[in-house]
Amino acid sequence: MIQTKVLLDESEIPTHWYNVVSDFPNPPAPPLGPDGQPIGPEALAPLFPMALIEQEVSAERWIEIPEEVREIYQMWRPSPLYRAHRLEKALGTPAKIFYKYEGVSPAGSHKPNTAVAQAYYNKQAGITKLTTETGAGQWGCSLALAGQMFGIDVRVFMVKVSYDQKPFRRSMMRTWGADVFASPSNLTNAGRSILADDPDSPGSLGIAISEAVEEAASRDDTNYALGSVLNHVLLHQTVIGQEAQKQFASIGEYPDMIFAPCGGGSNFGGVAFPFFADKAAGKDVRLVAVEPTSCPTLTRGHYAYDFGDTLGMTPLLLQYTLGHDFIPPSIHAGGLRYHGDSALVSQMYKEGLIEAVAVPQIATFEAGVTFARSEGIVPAPESNHAIRAVIDEALRCKESAEEKTLFFNLSGHGHFDMASYDKYFAGELVDYEYPEEEIERALHNLPKVAVG
Ligand SMILES: *Cc1c(COP(=O)(O)O)cnc(C)c1O
Repeated sequence: MIQTKVLLDESEIPTHWYNVVSDFPNPPAPPLGPDGQPIGPEALAPLFPMALIEQEVSAERWIEIPEEVREIYQMWRPSPLYRAHRLEKALGTPAKIFYKYEGVSPAGSHKPNTAVAQAYYNKQAGITKLTTETGAGQWGCSLALAGQMFGIDVRVFMVKVSYDQKPFRRSMMRTWGADVFASPSNLTNAGRSILADDPDSPGSLGIAISEAVEEAASRDDTNYALGSVLNHVLLHQTVIGQEAQKQFASIGEYPDMIFAPCGGGSNFGGVAFPFFADKAAGKDVRLVAVEPTSCPTLTRGHYAYDFGDTLGMTPLLLQYTLGHDFIPPSIHAGGLRYHGDSALVSQMYKEGLIEAVAVPQIATFEAGVTFARSEGIVPAPESNHAIRAVIDEALRCKESAEEKTLFFNLSGHGHFDMASYDKYFAGELVDYEYPEEEIERALHNLPKVAVG
């Protein structure tokens, strides 16, 4: 009998998060303030507790995970590593395919790994309320869950198009005690200014971030929490890759290529960064971020300083960006709609340390259905991007008779995304290449900062 699941004992939950900056060939580009000068930690203090700000700028290789956070991780961690025998067979590939399944968390994705840590540090700092944005609802659910565990009130600005299309994620957030508002809302200046220009605005992550940041910045008892993009978020997610390293070691395997869907970069960083430590030490492993052709941030965006939100309230980060005023095409069903990308992931891509590919929407659902019909698990539409890229690679291995070991992060399940699957089955999804004119246009609206 060949093994299907590789499981670790709870005692093997990592004790530290791994900071990829310690293996960077060049120091990370600093965040800049409105004057174009690097900001100090105090600039972030209205939004984040000092412990998280320190993690944001840390170059320490290992950061200890607080005991209380590890105890909550025990509810679903270590997550299983699966060998996808049935998918391999369905594809007739000589490649070995493995996946780490993060859908076992209560919220159904990798996002609680950081939500719990962020709620913990805010609680320690005496914060009683957190604001945040959410797109498809995965992050809002994760923070609602974490807030509930630490007795912190959570207020979620949910991108309006998703608020209308994903009523059950809304219900889940409310079940965990969070307040949820459609964004743009009339609760903030940011929301009101967008609505004044376009009363029917479908919203975007950038707009929802502006609303959440405005509210957090204007109240002492309130902080803001972000579900991806920032260095400390990617740091917290490195429990995924560290567990996977132990799981591979326990069966005497090691991946040749690692794939993850890439929106803001947190699940990619989470799974790939610990393996980058091996790569920096000389190991041959390829790390591939997979994004949609409708929001091709890494593969077609500009490498430039840009805001994290639409209204320009955040510090500037050097990143691949489609422009902070990007509004994703509403026909796109599969998440991964943020205009920018993690500064760490962006710098690694710029320096050729990692790879990126973009895949079209219909092919991602086709891959997800192939996966569900062989492996059983119905993947989140975001995860389908990685599955598409893995299947493509496995089919190339079939052509070339190569026995590569392929590994991907199955970042979540799709149980609350079945409306998107229904659209796929009804033939209502379309492929969409983000137009070149729009990418050009974004260039002109970028804040004017010289990249030195
Ligand atoms: C949020 C999410 C992603 C992508 O976000 P990253 O910030 O790039 O990690 C991928 N998969 C699932 C299931 C998600 O919820």
